[in-house]
Amino acid sequence: MTCWSTDACIDVIECAAKGGTSQAGLCPGAANIQCCSCSTCMDTAACSANGSISYSGICSGPSNIQCCKSKSLPVIIPSEPVNTMLTDLADILRGAGLNVVEETGWKTRGHDVMSSVKGILVHHTAGPATGEYPSLLIVRDGRTDLPGPLSQLGLGRSGTWYVIAAGKSYHAGKTINDTIFGNANAIGIEAEGTGLPADNTGHENWPEVQWQSYVRGVKALQAAYGVPTSNVLGHKEAAVPAGRKIDPNFSMDEFRAALD
Ligand SMILES: [Zn+2]
Repeated sequence: MTCWSTDACIDVIECAAKGGTSQAGLCPGAANIQCCSCSTCMDTAACSANGSISYSGICSGPSNIQCCKSKSLPVIIPSEPVNTMLTDLADILRGAGLNVVEETGWKTRGHDVMSSVKGILVHHTAGPATGEYPSLLIVRDGRTDLPGPLSQLGLGRSGTWYVIAAGKSYHAGKTINDTIFGNANAIGIEAEGTGLPADNTGHENWPEVQWQSYVRGVKALQAAYGVPTSNVLGHKEAAVPAGRKIDPNFSMDEFRAALD
C-alpha cells in the first residue's frame, strides 16, 4: 500500500496543523514523513461560511476542495488537579498541534488517581533500535516485576504522542522529593529511544522531530497544570540514590532552556 498522493507525504506535525491524520508505513523517507489525509474535505467557501479555515494539499479532487479545520483548538483552562484522573491529557497535547494516539481505555487506566501534578519526569524507554513506539505494550502493561501502566504518556520516534493512562503510573521510583516527583505527583513521559550512547550531551542522538515534539508537549502540559520549568526533571536527576537512572540521554539543561 502507498499513500494516496505523493504530495500528501508530509511531516506529522505539519499534517496535524492542517487538521489531517497521519498514517505510518505508506511514505518513503524519514519516520516523521507520513501519509496525511483529511476526514473533513469540503469546498473552501462552505468551510469559511462555517467559521473554519481551509488547508490545501491533503484532500483529493479540485483545488477548491480542501481540509476544513475549526479555528479554535481545544481551549485548555489551566488547572491544578487534586486526587483525580488526568482525563484531559489528550486534549492538552492536541491543543498544542501535536499528533495524538489515544490508547483504548486510557482514561480509567492507572494504579490510583493522581494526588496532584507538581512535576514532570522525562524518560527514555531504552527499547528497540527501530520502530515508531515498540515499547507501547510494556509501558501500558508493565513487566513481570512491575505492573503497568509505567507512564501516562509515550512519545514515538515520529513525534506522535501515545496517551496510555490517566492515573498514577510506576515510572519514578524513589526520588529526591516524592511530593513533587513521586508517582502520585508527577506525570511520566516514556519517549522511545535506545538510550545509547549514554553521553548526556545535547540531543544529537534523537530524531529532531521527536525532540521538538517532546519540548512542545511538555510546554503544553506545564501550561495546563501550572508546572514550573524547575519541576521538569530528567529521571536521572530525580532518582535516588544518585546514579540509579541514566535517562534521558540528552542534556536536561538544554531541554529546560527550550521550554522557556
Ligand atoms: Zn526513567
